[in-house]
Amino acid sequence: MDNKVLIMGHKNPDTDSICSSIVAANLVKSFGVETKIVRLGNINKETEYVLDFLKIDAPEFIQEVKDGQEIILVDHNEKMQSVDGRDNAKVLAVIDHHRIADFNTIEPLYYLAKPYGCTSTILYEEYKKAGIEIDKTIGTLMLSAIISDTLLLKSPTCTKSDIEAVKDLEKITGLEANKYGLDMLKAGTDLSTYSSSEVINLDAKEFSEGEKKFVISQVNTADIDDVFSRREELEFAMEKEIADKKLNLFVFVITDIINTNSKIIALGNEKELVEKAFGKELDDLDSMMLEGVVSRKKQIAPPILEVIK
Ligand code: MG
Ligand code: MG
Ligand code: MG
Repeated sequence: MDNKVLIMGHKNPDTDSICSSIVAANLVKSFGVETKIVRLGNINKETEYVLDFLKIDAPEFIQEVKDGQEIILVDHNEKMQSVDGRDNAKVLAVIDHHRIADFNTIEPLYYLAKPYGCTSTILYEEYKKAGIEIDKTIGTLMLSAIISDTLLLKSPTCTKSDIEAVKDLEKITGLEANKYGLDMLKAGTDLSTYSSSEVINLDAKEFSEGEKKFVISQVNTADIDDVFSRREELEFAMEKEIADKKLNLFVFVITDIINTNSKIIALGNEKELVEKAFGKELDDLDSMMLEGVVSRKKQIAPPILEVIK
């Protein structure tokens, strides 16, 4: 067991999970709590762009936590997205911007949740409140996370608080959000070096509702057709995940970050849930176009959860 408190984001970590872990570790350090930052999966290319830009090493990878380990969670709370062994760990704090599901603790904890576009926006406000300086590095980490989660403030998850934070962080970092952000987002769209099974797991989140278990996986692109041209091998990988994890449904979302649309591919014995959720039929290629849809959290998961209920 680690003597230090472990601080971590979700499995298949995204830029918010990694950046907010570092930002949160620095915050709690100023309150006298020593932490070790860890990650629950590979660093994606978008996050790699940020870490390279700042010349910061990626946090250490861990698979599970031992009984009694003290942990702080950022950017998630759902058990299926969290570290293995969490049930017997001691959760000291959660800082998150998602729905709350399957979350129980034995002891009291700090729980900070706001319906903002990004965990880093919540942390930004905590820094301000505590009067702690946001230096260029911390500011760039926050800015990167907010740009990533809100797709450069274009996602419907984006709030006034996110926009205000970005304005201030541009001043602090001297970066132009539009320029830096597009370069960062584009770095994340390079899928050429990934196998199909890696592509569908890059940003996959598992959900359960009642008896049903499903995955919604998302990739960003500047060209939907380019990703869709790999449909056959991607479907093969999706079918394998469905069999291995006994899923009822696998939804693969290809999001166009320039035009803010998504094309989805749905497979599984409950794929008609998707048709009900969006009031639209899947075409012969198990796919449908969703205009103006970019947010899994706000536009894709809720209608599917709704029809399951
Ligand atoms: Mg996240
Ligand atoms: Mg997030
Ligand atoms: Mg995301």
